[in-house]
Amino acid sequence: MRAAQPSVLQQCLSFGPVIATPRSIQARGLAILQGNGECDLLRGCWLRAFQRDAEPGCCEVIETPIYVVTDVELDGPVPDRHSMLSFASVAVTPDGHQHGEFEAILSQLDGASPDPETMAFWRTQPEAYAAATKNPQPPGAVMKRFVEWVRSLAGDEIFAAHPLALDGPWIDFYLQRFTQERLSEGPWRPKRLFRSAPLCLMSFAAGRLGWPTWACDVDRYPADWLGDHEHTHQAVDDARGYARLLVTLMSKSGLA
Ligand SMILES: [Mg+2]
Repeated sequence: MRAAQPSVLQQCLSFGPVIATPRSIQARGLAILQGNGECDLLRGCWLRAFQRDAEPGCCEVIETPIYVVTDVELDGPVPDRHSMLSFASVAVTPDGHQHGEFEAILSQLDGASPDPETMAFWRTQPEAYAAATKNPQPPGAVMKRFVEWVRSLAGDEIFAAHPLALDGPWIDFYLQRFTQERLSEGPWRPKRLFRSAPLCLMSFAAGRLGWPTWACDVDRYPADWLGDHEHTHQAVDDARGYARLLVTLMSKSGLA
């Protein structure tokens, strides 16, 4: 007698240990998608399983998104070994309305020291380096002020950066070290700082434009997409340009 065929969900779960909750099914699905070529089958399996079993609150609808578009300037590549010199955020809604800006210059982390290669870059940008290091403030006070600013925004805040893989870990590291907050937390934590997972603006551009990710660069975008904000490596200038890029991409895709 032939054994019964396993269900799609059973096939999905057979790739590893038994998984019991919708959240862990979601996490497992993402890992599998990155790990082998059977993406379509497994993605469909994951979605069906997740939709069928989803718990209340797992798939929140964000009705009033405010994107906190952020740019950081650094003295090296590794958080803690090196320091964040400055960062700036522009809060913007998809309709293009700006809800405020945050800008800060930070003193060096205890025990950190600048990276020689990064400092060689900064020697080519003396004006931007001077702006990124003038009158630095203690990072603990800066991050407390940043949290207060984000919480003062009247909407559902979503962090965004171009690319998220660069700016995101730095902000997350400083949030963890100096506050009780994180860049991304699960929907089961009601008082999380950001309502939804952070947005990679570079990936968003690639998807919306149909460009390869490596082509999504400030040097390749038409200047008006950036609101004609020059990319100066001064954090507030760069954040303003990326905030306008987000609005441009939203309007191009009819999402504004
Ligand atoms: Mg920059």
